[in-house]
Amino acid sequence: MTQAVRHDSMRARNLGVVLGEVRRSGPVTRAALAEMTGLTKTTVSKMVADLLAAGMVTETGVPSRGERGRPGTAVALSGGRVAALGLEINVDYLSACVVDLTLEVRLRRARAVDNRAASPVETLSHLREIAREAVEEARSLGLVVAGSTLAVPGPVDDGLVHSAPNLGWRDVHVGELLDGLLTPLPTVDNEANLAALGELWFGSGHRDFLHVSGEIGIGAGLVVDGALFRGSHGLAGELGHVVVFPDGPPCRCGGRGCLEQYAGQEALLRAAGAGTVEELAGRLREGDAAALAACERAGHALGLALTSAVHLFDPGTIVLGGVFAPLFPWISGAVLETTAARLSAIRDAVPDLAVSRLGGDATALGAAGQVIHRIIADPVAYVTASRTAPAGSKPR
Ligand SMILES: [Zn+2]
Repeated sequence: MTQAVRHDSMRARNLGVVLGEVRRSGPVTRAALAEMTGLTKTTVSKMVADLLAAGMVTETGVPSRGERGRPGTAVALSGGRVAALGLEINVDYLSACVVDLTLEVRLRRARAVDNRAASPVETLSHLREIAREAVEEARSLGLVVAGSTLAVPGPVDDGLVHSAPNLGWRDVHVGELLDGLLTPLPTVDNEANLAALGELWFGSGHRDFLHVSGEIGIGAGLVVDGALFRGSHGLAGELGHVVVFPDGPPCRCGGRGCLEQYAGQEALLRAAGAGTVEELAGRLREGDAAALAACERAGHALGLALTSAVHLFDPGTIVLGGVFAPLFPWISGAVLETTAARLSAIRDAVPDLAVSRLGGDATALGAAGQVIHRIIADPVAYVTASRTAPAGSKPR
């Protein structure tokens, strides 16, 4: 390794260490940063100067607590420039959101589209329009979208969606199809995983939980001590294909009696005779018997699947999100009754059942949050890009 390369990699590491500490502790003085990171004051000052120039941190002037003498200028994350784009393709909608470096949500876009009726290429070009609008609007707010993550409703491996049965996708190479269409090229990840991360970063503050996303498919994401459990092939959390009634109706996965056949959005609407989730919720508020019975049946099936999940993983809390959020008042009773009847005899602690405040937004937020966490862990590329941009140039 040449000295220059060694110097560059050390600078990259130090930028990440300083920015990470600002995120954890900020607003914080340079002196306190040196103490916390073990770096010299000179190094910290250089890193902070680079991060200030890149618009990633800002000087707040707030004196840090517990320090004597003249209050130092504190440094905090800046939400004013660097931002991330979260994108979601779901069965019946597309959505986008932009989140800044402080994890503040700056804008959201959603469009109802039946993506089953479209080819992957059509869906992706529609997505590109929404992404482009979001990036342009972010630019008008003075933000630079530094990266994006795209959520898809199926398992993903290096940009390849092996199978998203509810979209009718098989071996769709999203990364290749988007190449040249969307800049920067998004990372592609599974919807249920990102929804769980969305709940972790933007939700109620739980750090040990099982997040259940109710959509047309049902996915779950297990978060243990603030980290997502993905399984050895990234396929963990396919709760919708947990069998609840072995002789039940056939499922797209090739099995029978999967949870999705009872508690998935379509199964639920069909059983209730409703066209949309909004219509179903309206009828539930009016006390419609068919709607109530459909939710009772879905809640019972969900409770059976969650009983198994609790036995396997012992989560502290179960968070119901996606369409289960607006339907929570009518589903949660049957879920609790079913789980309590099967868990309480052998367990003292039964997990809490909570409703996600994010609902269907969790996935796109998790997608954007993932980009922000990556940028904060490794900010050197963004610092360098802002340095090489001509002085006074508008961010692009
Ligand atoms: Zn299935």
